[in-house]
Amino acid sequence: MPHAHLELNRPTGDEVKTTTCYMCACRCGIRVHLKNGRVRYIDGNPEHPVNRGVICAKGSSGMMQHYSPARLSKPLLRVGERGAREFREIEWDEALALATKWLGDIRARNPDELAFFTGRDQSQALTGWWAQQFGTINYAAHGGFCSVNMAAAGMYTFGGSFWEFGEPDWDRTKYLMLWGVAEDHDSNPIKLGLGKMKSRGAKIVAINPVRTGYASIADEWVPVNPGTDGLLAGALIHELLRNDRVDFDYLVRYTNAHHLVIRDPGAADDGLIARGADGKPLCVVRQSSSRPGNGRDPDPGTENLKALDSGLRRNDGQQSRAHRVVDAALPDIAPLIAGEYTLPDGRKAVPAFQLIAERFLADEYAPENVSERCGVDAETIRRLAAELAHAAFEEAIELPIAWTDTHGRKHDTMLGRPVSMHAMRGIAAHANGFHTCRTIHVLQILLGAIDTPGSFRYQPPYPKPAPPGNKPAKSRKPDGTLTGNPLGYPQSPADLLVDEEGQPRRLDHAFSWEFPLAAHGLLQSVIRNAVEGIPAKIDTLFLFMANMGWNSAMDTATTRKLLCARDDAGNYKIPHIIYVDAYDSETVAFTDLVLPDTTYLERYDCISLLDRPISDAEMAADAIRQPVVQPDRDVRPFQDVLLDLGARLKLPNMVDGNGAPAYKNYADYMVRHERAPGVGMLAGWRGADGSQQGKGAPNPDQLQRYIEHGCFFETKIPEAGAYYRMANRDYLQWAQSMGFVGSTEPVTMQLYCEVLQRFRLAAQGHGAVQPPESERARVTRYFDPVPFWYDGIQLPPPLAGEATRSAERAALGGRDSREDGPLPAFGHLPPRAGEEGKSLGARASAQDFPLSAITQRPMFMYHAWGSQNRWLRQIAARNVLYVHPRTLAAHALESGDWAWIASPRGRIRVEVCAHAATAPGTVWTWNAIGKKRGAWKLAERAPEFVDGFLLNHLIGERASNRTYANGDPVTGQAAWFDLKVRLEHDPEPRVPGHRFEPADD
Ligand code: SF4
Repeated sequence: MPHAHLELNRPTGDEVKTTTCYMCACRCGIRVHLKNGRVRYIDGNPEHPVNRGVICAKGSSGMMQHYSPARLSKPLLRVGERGAREFREIEWDEALALATKWLGDIRARNPDELAFFTGRDQSQALTGWWAQQFGTINYAAHGGFCSVNMAAAGMYTFGGSFWEFGEPDWDRTKYLMLWGVAEDHDSNPIKLGLGKMKSRGAKIVAINPVRTGYASIADEWVPVNPGTDGLLAGALIHELLRNDRVDFDYLVRYTNAHHLVIRDPGAADDGLIARGADGKPLCVVRQSSSRPGNGRDPDPGTENLKALDSGLRRNDGQQSRAHRVVDAALPDIAPLIAGEYTLPDGRKAVPAFQLIAERFLADEYAPENVSERCGVDAETIRRLAAELAHAAFEEAIELPIAWTDTHGRKHDTMLGRPVSMHAMRGIAAHANGFHTCRTIHVLQILLGAIDTPGSFRYQPPYPKPAPPGNKPAKSRKPDGTLTGNPLGYPQSPADLLVDEEGQPRRLDHAFSWEFPLAAHGLLQSVIRNAVEGIPAKIDTLFLFMANMGWNSAMDTATTRKLLCARDDAGNYKIPHIIYVDAYDSETVAFTDLVLPDTTYLERYDCISLLDRPISDAEMAADAIRQPVVQPDRDVRPFQDVLLDLGARLKLPNMVDGNGAPAYKNYADYMVRHERAPGVGMLAGWRGADGSQQGKGAPNPDQLQRYIEHGCFFETKIPEAGAYYRMANRDYLQWAQSMGFVGSTEPVTMQLYCEVLQRFRLAAQGHGAVQPPESERARVTRYFDPVPFWYDGIQLPPPLAGEATRSAERAALGGRDSREDGPLPAFGHLPPRAGEEGKSLGARASAQDFPLSAITQRPMFMYHAWGSQNRWLRQIAARNVLYVHPRTLAAHALESGDWAWIASPRGRIRVEVCAHAATAPGTVWTWNAIGKKRGAWKLAERAPEFVDGFLLNHLIGERASNRTYANGDPVTGQAAWFDLKVRLEHDPEPRVPGHRFEPADD
């Protein structure tokens, strides 16, 4: 049929309302077609800046999400045992009175006894503020088990991030590297961008163990082994340095490459940036090279290039008399970026770039030496590096856009390096993810490829200072509120939340010596730590949209038992669990009080610039959701409930002087709440008459203006502020006027991360705040200010062997985490010949589990929510295990066989499927399709129960030494993708049926 005759957008109802999609994290604009008050059809809003009318399978299936049989319909009070799904329906008044009683007692006693954690929440600007008013430090959203490595590494390196805080310059980039990108995050913008690139013939390279989704349309697929991306990125840097393919001019203008790092081994200042009396970083210039007013030396420090290593611009050390030390931020200087120098006070110092070069020019990053570990041959690595450099330097672009830098210097053009990168959870979800992300950012920076034409671009409100200035709140005011938001970016050991012995204060151990830079908390550790009472018992666990009873937990079987754990008196160890969700998920079964949320089509929401923005590189944008239909059940929007609870608790700023609620509901809060004078939740149509943007007084008609405008607001960045925003005065002045930054100071990118060195120095015995002895070696190792690669993959704890248990006791300060009874048994791996009678701990080794196992997000489903959607279930209602054909053959398996996938935590019977677009050493499956029988109102024999499976069972929540959470030692990011497994035969490979057997050595 000719396309011209298709009527794709013919109205199907009697009314169309705009709002914002919530079927994934992307937040596209949608139009909801209604007939007689019911949803008939959803399509994309052509005017919306995120998706320009594009809609995906998930988004258009939102109707079935709204009418899902799994929707909760009434507040529920548990009447049976936890896990038994026995509830009594109650009225809201009773539910809120009960919650108020529990929470009120806590606040009077100790606010930290409330653990308030949210999952895929898009209202963290509200929930974080609420936690602050309540006064609990135990708050976070789900970033700790999603991609905090990505966020933290970016923020500490260049004041931005991949994820939703930046994007490739889709119109100009000539070479894009996608590193471990999940297919559902930032979905439609990436699809639109990739489409632009394909139409221009630009090259796309996908680095991923699995070729699905975006990778399937890439020009080149590099099947890297899981967890080795940092090694590969390091080898690319090695090649760039070795061949002198670095943008030195960019480095000395916008990074700390030339900042002098003190070399004073053993001293308290070793590794810190040398600063002048005014506190400003210092650098070295030649006596003759500071020529204020004459323009800067176009070729900094090159004349001694050949003095030592090729490719390293190193000074020969004999010229100190010809050098002088100056303020590194001075304009029009030509700082040296290699060599060792003597400071006026006699201390030695080297430019930060020297340390980067020393690290990555080392043999361990040579392509030949990383090739086998990465699974990428050396020739390919060299070619990729050459292609990156060619695109950056031989295909450089220059735009005729005049701009002014932060020194006030005028520039007529903008030089661009059209190489861009994007990375996501495949990089982040490893125990080495923070440093891997940093390494990728260093690679970008060396190419001059951050916020230049054709490269990766910031999205407003970024860039921010690197790191941003907000630190996690540590104390309470007299009125019981925290002094600030519970989350933030520590800059030194003094910012940690630890007690006098250096032990964690937070329930999830974030911002402790275990995970100092845990900017998003560690939701994945909360349940275990609450049961074990480390650091302290809590009273109430308050969860929102976090399916911790199933696919949001590691070691799911153990987690489910922990939720039911009782003390000697028979009381639950977590006395109260409140859960808010719209759907009858697995977690509902473990809840004492269920507060049913609305669907996303039934409420107001705020996609705020204070939270996770929807801006793109050209404009700042925010959005709302409006209720397009009224609830037909006894449910309430979570945000309304939260504000109601705050008012009932008489929390500061949630009641007025008479004790009456300060806000009628969330919509009222969105309009009237001010975070700072003139700065509120929404940036559009501010001021009493709606004429202001960014900052301005609350406007009572603001929501109406949003609705009239398709439920979004956008404002374009001035053209002169299009690029170089880390040092672009035109942009920074605009950003300041919008309330995004406090000053117009430039953002200096941190090739060398001094913040990390401050923690390392503390671990080496310097400063007032130092780690306990048990943490010193770990902090010293992982808080390296220069990124590095290490093998973060560990086997999970194998079993309850006495020796291991003693070690655990010691680590817990004499407390035994199992003193109240055994946790689920560990280890169910058949002994090999000659190993009968040996414990699993003695038997298991890395060789026993040679395959990496990961999950991928399907484009058609977003977490557990989407996989219960009737339309989306028609695409897939069960998952299989994908294995490379050679790997299958090596195990004498065929597609369609049922076999076992095993880790030290247990084994799962799964159907295997040959998949040539999988790295041979990796197996994988779709995430969160397998479900627990009884949940989501699915039929008793639903494929999700019978055939589908959940890989999480095999992932240990603890690292192999049992002491720490299974995560990155810098940020605590959950190491989902470090799982190692093996395949085992089943005696009846053609008999279908999924089964999980926990290890029970
Ligand atoms: S990409 Fe995400 S937000 Fe956009 S339409 Fe699809 S599901 Fe909705």
